[in-house]
Amino acid sequence: MEAKELLWKKCLEKIEARIPAENYSAWFSSTYPRTLDGGLMTIAVPNQFYRKCLIENYRDLIETTLKLVTEKPILVAFCIATEKTEREKEPQETSAVESVAPPQAPSSLNSKYNFSNFVVGSSNQFAHAAALAVATHPTTAYNPLFLYGAVGLGKTHLLHAIGNKLCEDRGGDFHVRYISAESFTIDLIESIKKDRMPSFRKRYRPLDVLLVDDIQFIAGKERTQEEFFYTYNTLFESHKQLVISGDRYPKDIQNMAERLRSRFASGLVADISPPDLETKVAILYKKAEYYQKAIPHDVATFVAGSIKSNVRELEGFLLRVIAFSSFTRRKLDLELAMEVLKDFTIDKNKQFTITNIIKTVAGYYDITVSDIKSKKRTRNISRPRQVAMFLCREHTKASLPEIGRQFGGKDHTTVIFSYKKVKGNKELESDLQEIIALIERG
Ligand code: ADP
Ligand code: MG
Repeated sequence: MEAKELLWKKCLEKIEARIPAENYSAWFSSTYPRTLDGGLMTIAVPNQFYRKCLIENYRDLIETTLKLVTEKPILVAFCIATEKTEREKEPQETSAVESVAPPQAPSSLNSKYNFSNFVVGSSNQFAHAAALAVATHPTTAYNPLFLYGAVGLGKTHLLHAIGNKLCEDRGGDFHVRYISAESFTIDLIESIKKDRMPSFRKRYRPLDVLLVDDIQFIAGKERTQEEFFYTYNTLFESHKQLVISGDRYPKDIQNMAERLRSRFASGLVADISPPDLETKVAILYKKAEYYQKAIPHDVATFVAGSIKSNVRELEGFLLRVIAFSSFTRRKLDLELAMEVLKDFTIDKNKQFTITNIIKTVAGYYDITVSDIKSKKRTRNISRPRQVAMFLCREHTKASLPEIGRQFGGKDHTTVIFSYKKVKGNKELESDLQEIIALIERG
């Protein structure tokens, strides 16, 4: 285990002992450390809501705990797991080596996702039936099975459900492996670098079932496609089951070799579309059951109606409502859910960009944007600059170095310093509220 993983693990153990189990499982179970760079640890979280909730409710606890474990001050920042960091955005394929995927064991199936907790509605009925058929009669039902749909609609869930059912029904001798196309790519690049291609190929050969998630990740990556083609054929020709997921119909995946696209479409292709209201409500009940929380019907309908299509967001919102009621010890009712939704929509508001924050802050204090970005240290300028940096850290997804850069090339330590200066400063707090209101009003 790498240093950051070990550190995060230790930190989580302590946190788990300190907070209610449901909060721990709601907010921490799907976090993982992305980077540890000097005194800054970046934690990947599933989405914006987690990020906001962790910042609001747990950042202090996390930072104190990290300090306890390492005996050194460590600050935390949060990034969204599915979003790439600056470094990962580089176009070359090799950059994926650094784009650390969640630390999953190679064959790791997530037991959280199974058929019994997958809610079937008209939007996913076909995909569900196909997945179940494959899990019951691998290779003889449909091969390959290709599931596609937009993000957050249950593709990964179904892939794991297939794997879990197969393992349950057929025991340990049946080899199933779930892998994201991203991890496949990383695995491949590592193997090339270390000159271990034969063992890379060997790892896939004995499998009975290969579940490959988010195949669109290998679009535009020729070497990976070539190797995937090889893996695919080896398995297919020995009558092994393949299940692949993607964000669109095989033929519509850009920059994907034709021979792969046609193979993906040669078995059964099933799509998942956004759930209707009824299905969303049913999903909410299922999730609430998982978190052992009873949610009133009006709350479920309200939540389902407020979130347009993405089931992951639906779940994120539900978790937020549950957590909020638990932090504030308030009854989980419609009023509370509406309050949470207000935050939630503000959170999604794109008005909070670094540029916009700087502009608004400059206007508020009657100085110019270039003053804020300058090196001037007079109090009438450094104060607004600190306030703006604070707001950028609280309200945007930008990393500390990125914030520093946009402030005329300041170091990330300056951002941290500013943040601390502003936090808890009574005099500045009322300013902050007014500025936030200004930004929100646009
Ligand atoms: P995708 O892989 O398509 O982006 P996921 O499978 O990760 O989406 O689903 C996102 C979240 O929504 C998961 O927590 C998953 O359990 C949940 N989810 C999606 N569809 C359903 C469903 N029909 N029933 C229960 N949970 C669902
Ligand atoms: Mg997925």
